[in-house]
Amino acid sequence: MSSVEERGEVGVAATPGSSSGGLGVVAVGAALEAVVGGPSMLEEVSIRRGEGLGPESDPDEPPPKKRMRLPEGESGKLEERLYSVLCCTVCLDLPKASVYQCTNGHLMCAGCFIHLLADSRLKEEQATCPNCRCEISKSLCCRNLAVEKAVSELPTDCPFCLKQFPRSSLERHQREECQDRVTQCKYKRIGCPWKGPFHELPAHEEECCHPTKTGTELMGILGEMDQSHRRELTLYNSIFSLLCYEKIGFTGRLEVQFRPYRTDDFITRLYYETPRFTVLNQTWVLKARVNDSERNPNLSCKRTLSFQLILKSKVNSAIECSFLLLKGPYDDVRIKPVIHHHAFSNDTNETDYVPLPITDSVECNKLLAAKNINLRLFIFQIQK
Ligand SMILES: [Zn+2]
Ligand SMILES: [Zn+2]
Ligand SMILES: [Zn+2]
Ligand SMILES: [Zn+2]
Repeated sequence: MSSVEERGEVGVAATPGSSSGGLGVVAVGAALEAVVGGPSMLEEVSIRRGEGLGPESDPDEPPPKKRMRLPEGESGKLEERLYSVLCCTVCLDLPKASVYQCTNGHLMCAGCFIHLLADSRLKEEQATCPNCRCEISKSLCCRNLAVEKAVSELPTDCPFCLKQFPRSSLERHQREECQDRVTQCKYKRIGCPWKGPFHELPAHEEECCHPTKTGTELMGILGEMDQSHRRELTLYNSIFSLLCYEKIGFTGRLEVQFRPYRTDDFITRLYYETPRFTVLNQTWVLKARVNDSERNPNLSCKRTLSFQLILKSKVNSAIECSFLLLKGPYDDVRIKPVIHHHAFSNDTNETDYVPLPITDSVECNKLLAAKNINLRLFIFQIQK
């Protein structure tokens, strides 16, 4: 399998088989953010992580404090007692976003709930409440709005200045008002690495050496920015040129649904396989695997998905295709577009496993927790 870029035809492609192939676009996104200075996908991701939806934490944020339940009979302040009543029964943290409950009322924060569902899918078991072992699922569990609202009214410490605020206003305080919040120098775009508390920012910017950079130095920095900008532009341009091809097919109403399978030799590796589907008058199957078939993906916090496209029909001559996976209808997963290329023949009817370029493990768990992973596959046949 060769990538489109290697063939020197169109656009940017991930190098097949390299695990970082699809992630290259993330770097482009970061660089683009530096160019436009506006909020990007990355920023959204870190904000969502800040809401406690996943196991990963933002490097700029202090590690979350684990609140242990108070021992029976010990009477702390009312707030302290409420913490232990309203906390997630799995991670013992106070939920920062949605709160779910099992049919017996045990509370779970959204991150833990999604993680439990994803784990059960990996183990091919019914997910259960860790407290009472009753079955949990998206349809069996409901949100608990009263708890969500109560939690948002509880006072909490700002991790930067350590003053107390209601949870509902903490985010704004941390983002806009806190004098101790971590900030970056306004000359970050031209290479200043300074990071520090907001109240030290004016003094730093006063003496920052980066605005006195020479034109030559600035040209170098601008060149790098242009380059990453151009890479992204090339990707989108190549998608547009693919859209001009004569033979284009995509999965429409037939959504790509993954189902867990075990391998033939009873090894516990899991992979997902779609039902056969027809695109461009050929029959195809898409396979996907978790953490590249690591033995126990449920033991690892980091989750990745990679996929393989297989041509099931017999063909008279090789079909050269570019293909592209995007999110499916009614799905809100974030997938970065990466164009892959493969010449399918009866001997080479399978592509290598290539990374599904989802933004992070949180997104990956969201996919695994869902019954079906709705993706949309585009296949562009290259005419000789
Ligand atoms: Zn939790
Ligand atoms: Zn329960
Ligand atoms: Zn503060
Ligand atoms: Zn600076």
